Amino acid sequence: MITRQCLLCSKGFLTYPCRLRRGDGKYCSSTCADKSRRKVKERPTKDELVALLDYHTFAETGKMFGVTGRTIKNWAKSYDLDLTIFC
Ligand SMILES: [Zn+2]
Repeated sequence: MITRQCLLCSKGFLTYPCRLRRGDGKYCSSTCADKSRRKVKERPTKDELVALLDYHTFAETGKMFGVTGRTIKNWAKSYDLDLTIFC
């Protein structure tokens, strides 16, 4: 086992050299690996998202981040927002 530093959260973790040869072993956890694959690295906070959706549609908000309105809906869902209050 060798010690590596997570590319996302900078936490140290142990991995196998054979995993590095496969191109794995970059992140400490699947959570960090998932986050690294996200198109938008810095999502708005729940409050920021609510503020945006007060004045813009999902599609308009999506354009600001270079994603689709569906993605914005997913963000809202992940924050447990009530989608029916937005247009
Ligand atoms: Zn990590």
